[in-house]
Amino acid sequence: MDVTPITDVGAGRTAASITLENLGKVYPDGSVAVGDISFEVPAGELVVLIGPAGCGKSTILRMLNRLIEPSKGRVLIDGEDVTRQDPDALRRTIGYVIQDVGLFPHQTVRTNIGTVPRLLGWDRKRIRERADELLDLVGLDPERYARRYPHELSGGQRQQVGVARALAADPLVLLMDEPFSAADPLVRAHLQEEFLRLQNTVRKTIVLVTHDIDEAVRLGDRIAVLGDGGRLLQYATPADLLGNPASEQVREFVGEDRGVRRLAVTKVRESMRPIGRVEQIERLPTVDAEGTLYDALSAMLTSDSLNVVVLEDGKPVGSISRSLLFDVPVKS
Ligand code: ADP
Ligand code: MG
Repeated sequence: MDVTPITDVGAGRTAASITLENLGKVYPDGSVAVGDISFEVPAGELVVLIGPAGCGKSTILRMLNRLIEPSKGRVLIDGEDVTRQDPDALRRTIGYVIQDVGLFPHQTVRTNIGTVPRLLGWDRKRIRERADELLDLVGLDPERYARRYPHELSGGQRQQVGVARALAADPLVLLMDEPFSAADPLVRAHLQEEFLRLQNTVRKTIVLVTHDIDEAVRLGDRIAVLGDGGRLLQYATPADLLGNPASEQVREFVGEDRGVRRLAVTKVRESMRPIGRVEQIERLPTVDAEGTLYDALSAMLTSDSLNVVVLEDGKPVGSISRSLLFDVPVKS
């Protein structure tokens, strides 16, 4: 095959920052899909785009890899304007995962995963090793699954192969459009868990679209909440979003039970009071500094106490009171 040997896509880098600068899209029929959006995704972070159907989530994603050209504004990847790059070369540095995956039905799992490496001219041995390594990474035993065809997998497994394929050439960025939405709740929870484990290993810059606030809070380092007409309503960490919704609209969107959700995503360490104020430490329940406020609340409820002592390496370093769980705004 006649391929320019772009051997390693990211040339030593593993993840890139993404900057959206006044990005907008008006379709030819005049409908405004994306208003005027600016935010930055730091390299190695997972940002979730969330909002009601039709608010422009997929359009934003597809402007990042130039499947759609913006009407205004720019997308920078590691500071470089994507419109200055060859679209095909660009897309090899950007993995793309969609809801029903689009695996090639007449190719084995291993061949599917090797799609981009083959385009890049990798040799067969390297492609095979990479495919098997990725199957391992997404939690599928290569011995068992590499030679199967897509129809011999469950929906959840096909989705994992889709993720493996998107990661095959070690892209700098991974774009995922409602990747887990088709799965039933149990499978979805499993896929999310596996995916978080995977991200801890590969640390890609990921932009993931969902309409599920629980998924957003669970997966996102940051969350971009979008409203009608493709407007950015808030861009914040999960804890900040749940603790301090920027408007009534966001408050409604994140839901009534945001208080409990916030506890689950806020670290004890970020909210505790220093140790000085705790008395009678030995009689209080404890929680680890690395735990969440939800853990702190559980400890209080099971011991019927209004305070917990925070431990770090087994030593008391702070305390959390029950009023603090519900009254104090979240630090950003
Ligand atoms: P989401 O992914 O958030 O559901 P989309 O980005 O797919 O939303 O669409 C945003 C808006 O743009 C919608 O109102 C949709 O109808 C419109 N839209 C999407 N694609 C096109 C197109 N090719 N031509 C005209 N309008 C479109
Ligand atoms: Mg969409």
